[in-house]
Parts: sequence; structure tokens; C-alpha cells
Amino acid sequence: MIEAKDLRGRFNDWPRAGSRVYRAPGRVNLIGEHTDYNDGFVMPAAIDFHTWVAIAPRTDRTISVFSENFQEAVRFDLDDPAPQPKRHWSDYVRGVALALEQSGYRLRGAQLQIRSDVPIGAGLSSSAAIEVATGYALLHHSGFDVEKVELARLCQRAENDFVGVRCGIMDQFISCQGEKGKALLLDCRSLEYKLLPLAKATRLVICNTMVKHELAAGEYNKRRAECEEGVRHLARRGDDVKTLRDVTSAQLESDSRDLPDIIYRRCRHVISENARVLQAAAALERGSVAEFGRLIDESHRSLQQDYEVSCAELDLMVNLANALPGTYGARMTGGGFGGCTVNLVLDEAVEEFKTRIARDYENTTGITPEIYVCETTDGVKEVVSG
Ligand code: ADP
Ligand code: MG
Repeated sequence: MIEAKDLRGRFNDWPRAGSRVYRAPGRVNLIGEHTDYNDGFVMPAAIDFHTWVAIAPRTDRTISVFSENFQEAVRFDLDDPAPQPKRHWSDYVRGVALALEQSGYRLRGAQLQIRSDVPIGAGLSSSAAIEVATGYALLHHSGFDVEKVELARLCQRAENDFVGVRCGIMDQFISCQGEKGKALLLDCRSLEYKLLPLAKATRLVICNTMVKHELAAGEYNKRRAECEEGVRHLARRGDDVKTLRDVTSAQLESDSRDLPDIIYRRCRHVISENARVLQAAAALERGSVAEFGRLIDESHRSLQQDYEVSCAELDLMVNLANALPGTYGARMTGGGFGGCTVNLVLDEAVEEFKTRIARDYENTTGITPEIYVCETTDGVKEVVSG
């Protein structure tokens, strides 16, 4: 539990009497991009942008929810025999309630109020933050102990099955299990994880290119299909290959003769990226910031050249970062074709970094970027007032 000083300071109109408040963070993925759906490794950190949920009891079995961000209220019945998604923000809340009920948690009716300072739709996972915060609040409110890995799975199920987004489990997992000062190494196959210390003298700076190219969804599905094609080729060799996770770089090199070049490069990205995540974890354990930064740089090159999911604005933002003093590493983060870069920057260089990268990016593109200097933070928890 944490003190709610910040909450009272910023939101002195809230929460109203009789309610309890929970919060869940957004995240940034430090390394391990496009590896999650290949059963591989990822390394996100929870960042200090949060979604807060205030919850108060109702006497019936309905959930009423107000989002301050959308300035809109919605009500639904937990006993509705055929709940349908509406392609509306409330699907995230309703989907979570439904996933919880379907796995045996009988929920009490509640009134929810939501506010968030996670930038919405910027790739910092406001969606997982709203799912995890409401899921945790609903469970607690209904008298259940919350097992966080189970909560992450149920929130992912809600997003996959009810909202209709084919995401992996990384976002929900880190929003549940993050820890201040730490990055989280997650094995997407077994869900084994390990928290690793981030260097105290560095900061994570996220640069939002403010562009999102139309291609994103179509290319994402194409990449998934290309990986599957790679697996089909590589499995013919008789090795036990179920996903690209099961293939080493050496195997790829020796078995790649009949692979079309494009499929070979897609596979090479995923396989080398998995190896980089493990090397990055070892670098953090050794306290080697320079090595961690170098791996972040390599990840970007692989995403740009082999996986081909970067774009001119992301490449520009990365190049600008690399030209500034105090930058250890810079790469695109998230699915690609726009969105954000993540940068590992020496603490004392952050102010200059922030000003110069914003100015240089704007001078070249005419677009004003958003720059977020982040602290890492803890996963979902109750916020106690007092
Ligand atoms: P990201 O997760 O990168 O922010 P997504 O498209 O996955 O982007 O999720 C954004 C969607 O999540 C929003 O369009 C909205 O439907 C829902 N959402 C996120 N935060 C809130 C909020 N505070 N209130 C209501 N809906 C929210
Ligand atoms: Mg999302």
C-alpha cells in the first residue's frame, strides 16, 4: 500500500466518501519487441503514469462506471445473459468484469470512477492499466484475494475475447507485477519472471513521435504470418520446433538455405532479439549500463532492417537521441510504424536531452513531439488515504 499524498494534492475533489481507490501503471518495453507472440522474452518496466479507480458499493448487481477522461458514464448488468462488446471504452471494464465472473468470481455491484494520466493510445498501455486497475478493484471490493498472475491472465482474456484485440500478456503482467527501480524479464511461454535492477544514475525517457501510420494493424498480422511460415520451414528439419523460441541463431543459419529472404530476416530478428533480451538481463545483473544500452541500439537496428516495422519518424528520433550527450541507448518501442521511442539517458543529461530532442525533431518534421521523463513504479495496488 502507498500513501495517497499525490492523489489528494492533484485530485482534491476525489474520491468521494465511502469509496476505496486503486491504481495500476502503464508501461514501456525496454527490449524484446515482437517476441511475445513467438513465445519469447520481453523486458518491460512499469512507469509512473497511472489509471486510478475509485469504487463504492451498490445494492444491486449492476456496475456503473464513469470515465473522467472520456467524461461519460455507462451502466451494465452483471446478470445480462448475453453481454456484447460495443466498440466503446467501457468494453475494457465490462470485458474484465465478464472474465472474472466466467472464472468463478461472483462480483458485487459497484460504482466506479476512473481517471488516468497514462497517455491514451500512445503505446504506453493505458488499456492494460484500465483493465488491471478495475479488475483488482472489483475483486477486492467483492471480498476476494487477488492473485496477480491470475489477474493478468484474466485481463488479457478480456482484451482478446471481449474487446477483440489480439495482444500478448506482457502489458497486463507488468501492470500487475512491476516494481519501482526494476525492469521485469518475462518468459512469455512459461510466465516465469525475474525483476532486475535498473541503474540508479539513468532515467527512461520516452519520446512520442505523434505519428501512427495506417499500415500498423495490417503489417502486424503479416509479421505474425511470416513468423508462422518460418516455423513451418524450420520444423521440417525434424527438430522440435513449435515457435521461433525453439530456434537458435546457429540453427537458423544452418537451416536457412530454402528460406525466402524476407522470412529469413523476420526469423533472424525474433531469434536475435530473444538472445538480446537475455544478454540485457545479464547486463543489468552485472550493473553494466553501457552493455544494456548497446543491446537497446542493436534491437532498433534489427527492428528497422530485418523486421521492417520502423518508420522515418522513429528512425529520426533514434538518430537524434544517439547524437546527444548522455544517451546510452535508443530504440523504437511498441508495435512500430509510429508511436514512441525509449531512451536510456544519464540522469544529469536528461534536461538537455529533453529540450534538444524536442527542438531537433520539430525542426525536421514540423511536428511537436511529447517527451516523457519517467520514473519506474510498482504494479497495481490500493491507494490508502491518510
Ligand atoms: P494504449 O494501450 O497504447 O494506450 P489502446 O488502443 O490499446 O492504446 O487502448 C486505448 C483504449 O483504452 C482507449 O481508446 C479506451 O477505449 C481505453 N481506455 C484507456 N484508458 C481509459 C480511461 N481512462 N477511461 C476510459 N477508457 C480508457
Ligand atoms: Mg493497449
